[in-house]
Amino acid sequence: MPEIRVTPLGAGQDVGRSCILVSIAGKNVMLDCGMHMGFSDDRRFPDFSYITRSGRLTDFLDCVIISHFHLDHCGALPYFSEMVGYDGPIYMTQPTQAICPILLEDYRKIAVDKKVVEITKHTRDNTALRYLELLPLSWTTQEPQSTSNAFTPPLAHWLVFPCIVIPSACGTPGTSPPMPVDDELEIKAYYAGHVLGAAMFQIKVGAESVVYTGDYNMTPDRHLGAAWIDKCRPNLLITESTYATTIRDSKRCRERDFLKKVHETVERGGKVLIPVFALGRAQELCILLETFWERMDLKAPIYFSTGLTEKANHYYKLFIPWTNQKIRKTFVQRNMFEFKHIKAFDRAFADSPGPMVVFATPGMLHAGQSLQIFRKWAGNEKNMVIMPGYCVQGTVGHKILSGQRKLEMEGRQVLEVKMQVEYMSFSAHADAKGIMQLVGQAEPENVLLVHGEAKKMEFLKQKIEQEFRVSCYMPANGETVTLPTSPSIPVGISLGLLKREMAQGLLPDAKKARLLHGTLIMKDSNFRLVSSEQALKELGLAEHQLRFTCRVHLHDTRKEQETAVRVYSHLKSVLKDHCVQHLPDGSVTVESILIQAAAHSEDPGTKVLLVSWTYQDEELGSYLTSLLKKGLPQAS
Ligand SMILES: [Zn+2]
Repeated sequence: MPEIRVTPLGAGQDVGRSCILVSIAGKNVMLDCGMHMGFSDDRRFPDFSYITRSGRLTDFLDCVIISHFHLDHCGALPYFSEMVGYDGPIYMTQPTQAICPILLEDYRKIAVDKKVVEITKHTRDNTALRYLELLPLSWTTQEPQSTSNAFTPPLAHWLVFPCIVIPSACGTPGTSPPMPVDDELEIKAYYAGHVLGAAMFQIKVGAESVVYTGDYNMTPDRHLGAAWIDKCRPNLLITESTYATTIRDSKRCRERDFLKKVHETVERGGKVLIPVFALGRAQELCILLETFWERMDLKAPIYFSTGLTEKANHYYKLFIPWTNQKIRKTFVQRNMFEFKHIKAFDRAFADSPGPMVVFATPGMLHAGQSLQIFRKWAGNEKNMVIMPGYCVQGTVGHKILSGQRKLEMEGRQVLEVKMQVEYMSFSAHADAKGIMQLVGQAEPENVLLVHGEAKKMEFLKQKIEQEFRVSCYMPANGETVTLPTSPSIPVGISLGLLKREMAQGLLPDAKKARLLHGTLIMKDSNFRLVSSEQALKELGLAEHQLRFTCRVHLHDTRKEQETAVRVYSHLKSVLKDHCVQHLPDGSVTVESILIQAAAHSEDPGTKVLLVSWTYQDEELGSYLTSLLKKGLPQAS
């Protein structure tokens, strides 16, 4: 029985370290290779031992697919390739391929800073020390240089693999052409919105297919279009479910609310911190604030903390076909990513008096500059921090959003949060309505939820099962879901056969299944159903007829010829609607059924009737046999 098996190694009933193992028709594909931002121990990476214990990794996996550049989807790649030892193909879109190494390098810098701090703290703890050393070493064997300008990717061997380009045909990016991984496995990308270069992937082997959404957004935003998929009817749709229970209010309201909060804080002399990831929401909110500052003629400075802005703009320019239509149009006159009011941030500015707005990375306040600024500003109630996206458990962002106001920082220092904490969902994930919409569009046979919280998944699972009448699964990490599949094989029907059906008054009806007799032939891996005559002709075969013969013993002392006459007259009188004939050779026929009388080899008082027919006349043949078995009427 063919089947599809799915095992999340990460993101099973959780958000973070996305990594899903899929087996489809004997092919093994790993979807995403993310890290968990909320942990610094071995829960940071997916549990790859699940694959490695079955032998060599590269032999086992046919390919790895990365949905987009967010670190919870690609952050474990260096570890996976450098330490675990995978060196097979890795597929991703062109923007992801370009941006991913930059974010990884940026993260490495943060991670190395962190290592120095924690080593002095745990010098006596050997295990912790060993582990922490492992992380930066997995990225590069060189000692990190804080002023390194030239970025040399330590991961050259996975960067050379082919990438998928989503063409911007007709002005809207849609899908990539199917790309063969090998003779049987084929992948295809769909535009996912979410962040620059994000894609959903269809994995196909023969007639079986799985669609993995990665992260997606069903509504367009200020810089990207909406996710889209065709009615591809996969056996399984694996969808993220970050906002499984949220139905977001209109985007316009959220934007107005955001601008009002920033404006009020700046007016009363406060500072606004907006933790963001370098690419994505950052660009969207920058466009929003830039336009507002211009319109209101505001003077308070806006800074973008990271040196990545320029790099980011570079990529937006490079991959302009991936953005939305408005940006592509405006781009001809003006680059929407060149800002008049938003300036580069310098560390020293954080201590300057007076109002300001700062975009700082990373987005969940778990490390780096956003966390440094947060610590400086947290004590002043005039200030505000606006979290524009989802924060995973374990991060400072998650803690303050769940109401904690006394945070224990390293060295047992307690940070009291007096600044205002606001949450505005500018996250680029589909909400419950969007997820339902995607399921409706793709029409999958089964749905599997990942990248969400168990409780919320449970709710969405019921909703999907009720509305679409399909099975919905939500496995935990390490838990395997097995789906039996019944592959459908398309068969062409010959015109001759259809005409014959129609001659009987049976018009083809897509809604009503019915039985059709014919001969199935396979030519060049295609199946066709044709009439047997046509099959013989096409295949150059001679016709063979199979006849069934049955013996009936009759008590009759007369000669065989006379017995035959008696059989003829009996059948003639019983079967009034049939053509009964007595042939010159002495045999009797009823339609195509042949009856011959013969002498019995041992008993002269018994005659043997041989009744023979073809399979087409099975019914009549059997009937005649049983009729003759009852005997002939007495001759008068
Ligand atoms: Zn994402």
